[in-house]
Amino acid sequence: NGAVRVNMTNVDSPLQIFVRAKKKINDIFIEIDDYVKDAVTFMHAVSGENKIATSQDVANIEAYVNKVQAIREVLKRDHMKVAFFGRTSNGKSTVINAMLHDKILPSGIGHTTNCFLQVEGSDTDEAFLRTEGSEEKLNVQSVSQLGHALCASRLQECALVHVHWPRELCALLRDDVVLVDSPGVDVTPNLDQWIDRYCLDADVFVLVANAESTLMVTEKNFFHKVSTKISQPNIFILNNRWDASASEPEYLDQVRTQHANRCVDFLSRELRVCTPKEAEERIFFISAKEALLTRMREREKPVSSPILADGHQVRYFEFVDFERKFEECISQSAVRTKFAQHSRRGKNIAADVMAALDQVYNKASDMKSSKVEKQRVLHEQLSAVEEQLTAITRQMKDKIGRMVESVEHKVSLTLSQ
Ligand code: GDP
Repeated sequence: NGAVRVNMTNVDSPLQIFVRAKKKINDIFIEIDDYVKDAVTFMHAVSGENKIATSQDVANIEAYVNKVQAIREVLKRDHMKVAFFGRTSNGKSTVINAMLHDKILPSGIGHTTNCFLQVEGSDTDEAFLRTEGSEEKLNVQSVSQLGHALCASRLQECALVHVHWPRELCALLRDDVVLVDSPGVDVTPNLDQWIDRYCLDADVFVLVANAESTLMVTEKNFFHKVSTKISQPNIFILNNRWDASASEPEYLDQVRTQHANRCVDFLSRELRVCTPKEAEERIFFISAKEALLTRMREREKPVSSPILADGHQVRYFEFVDFERKFEECISQSAVRTKFAQHSRRGKNIAADVMAALDQVYNKASDMKSSKVEKQRVLHEQLSAVEEQLTAITRQMKDKIGRMVESVEHKVSLTLSQ
């Protein structure tokens, strides 16, 4: 499909914090796995004839093999998740496409996403769709096909469609970022259900707002709900369509300050998810459409390119700045929430197995010392018997000697008569 592979090695990306931590914790769990399996072999060996370990001891240790396996499975699938929200047509799909450097999600007039779309990396070269709860893979070659497939499948607004896209084509997907696009917050009354189903494990939320208007009550309400369910959610606000400001440069600074103040106020005073200073680092003025166009050109993809409006470079730098701060935030948050839990579990398992081995060791040494004791007692008894035997033998010898003497005496007496 003429795809351009991402060849750049992104060792500098903040996402590497997560990628490296994931590798490290995976390696640690391989070691724990080995350790547990060794312990099982050992338990089997000592539960044989000499019965140091009971069959319950063996079963207890064997149970850890499955536990470790289950954690390793979860670890393999662990990822960083970002969810995008906002009103219909604010540009959510365009932002996601710009971040992925390609037109992956359908966007534009006539297309409204009426379900949740989760874009995630696929290990094969193929792109395919899968609806939640079904194993059927629907191959997709192009965006228009994806759009058709989505329309044809008549999905419910609350359904989740997985879009698997070759990892090698997008740096974000390769580094285990999963991006979730949502139906507009203006089209649903089911905000609670959405949050419960798709948001509780999101590391970062991005509100895609429209810089041409002001933050809407529906957008605000959604995040009020989020912050009641998740403690301290990480929220970024993108004031999209900032290219519109190019047509009125005389008001640019004024409008920007007004929007920025409202957003800071919303995050820090209304939602109380961060301080005003932190909030300033979470608000960006961008044009997703321009960013996507710039990236499509970089990848030499055919685009019908209008001339970009004045200031597009500044807006593009701001988009790149957003990506950097977003990457730092998501990787740190995911490491904290996901791996802290796994490493605690790993530590507990290692400690439990150690305790079980200790118990067996103690039992074995108790058995050894009781055997030694038994041997000592036996030895003493034997010596006593030996002594007795010697005494008896001596007595017998004396007795026999005396008998022989008396017999000899009697014989000689008889002979001399
Ligand atoms: P969604 O419904 O929130 O996913 O919005 P889309 O990404 O589908 O965008 C809706 C329309 O807005 C499309 O025609 C986009 O090309 C357009 N659009 C998105 N971002 C921008 C932007 O930054 N500037 C301008 N002028 N148009 C944009």
